[in-house]
Amino acid sequence: MEVYLASPWIPREWVEVHGLVPRGLFCAPVLGTLTPRMAEGICSFAQQSLELARRYCDRGDAVVFVSSCDQMRRGFDLVGEQETSNAFLFNLPATWQSDAAWRLFRLEFERFTRFLERIGGHRQADESVAIIIDTALGARAKLRSSWNKLRARGFAECIARLHWDGCTIVESVSDVNGDAGVPVAVVGGPLTPAQWGILDAIESAGGRVVLNATETGERSLGLEMPRPGRIAGSIDSLARFFFSRIIDVWQRPNTRLYDWVRERIEERNVRGIVLWHHVGCDLWRAEAASLREAFGLPILTLDSEQAYSDHPRLMHRIAAFMEILR
Ligand code: SF4
Repeated sequence: MEVYLASPWIPREWVEVHGLVPRGLFCAPVLGTLTPRMAEGICSFAQQSLELARRYCDRGDAVVFVSSCDQMRRGFDLVGEQETSNAFLFNLPATWQSDAAWRLFRLEFERFTRFLERIGGHRQADESVAIIIDTALGARAKLRSSWNKLRARGFAECIARLHWDGCTIVESVSDVNGDAGVPVAVVGGPLTPAQWGILDAIESAGGRVVLNATETGERSLGLEMPRPGRIAGSIDSLARFFFSRIIDVWQRPNTRLYDWVRERIEERNVRGIVLWHHVGCDLWRAEAASLREAFGLPILTLDSEQAYSDHPRLMHRIAAFMEILR
């Protein structure tokens, strides 16, 4: 059975450990090309996720939503209202520094495990679990270290493949000219395959996307393992690792997000930030002022209505932004 995960923070490795096939719904190749049938008031990404989730549930697969925002919760309510659907809501704690937050995550992790068992999953032997976890960690580490070896679209494709079918397809040959272009960060919500034209448009206008901090970009690979060595030894330490690798805007305080972005902005000499958000996503839209204040860099805000690289207004705005950064 395939299990479609609506967020990168749901541990796909844990699904695999149970003999099921994890798929990152947020990286589905068709995402961004659907015509949603949803009501107003739900962001364009949640609408498309819901549309896909309905299709997958109808054919007997499972879907997992997260409680990170009202829109995702609403998506789950609409899919889960059919009693026969294999839908699950993973409640992710909004805070992350307290013991209470960790205990909530731990309980949810157990509930998630029971859900996987209910839909037919069986946890594999300890040795197999260790291999799956170590392989996944290795794949993420390999991708993280490839940010400067590929053009922005190529890097986004590799990350999407990892979330979609677990493949790591980074080529050993670099396809990017290291110092060409003005270094830019793209920060924000999910940038779906149909919207990768934004990355091309930035590069065509003389920019170089050195940081893809969208929910489907480098950020979705999560924090690295806190210490070297195997962590598959106990379920508790695994759960703690899955909890600790979340980096997102809905977390309070959201210092983990800002620290992660800051480290890379400084390391990669970023000169400007493109803030990407879906229409209807107040969480990311509201970050413009905080990002400006935190990093003191020029910000260009783009939304999913302007997401097509041949959109004249989009091209014009990106070109004008690059002029400012030169
Ligand atoms: S894009 Fe924003 S509103 Fe939409 S699901 Fe993600 S966090 Fe929620």
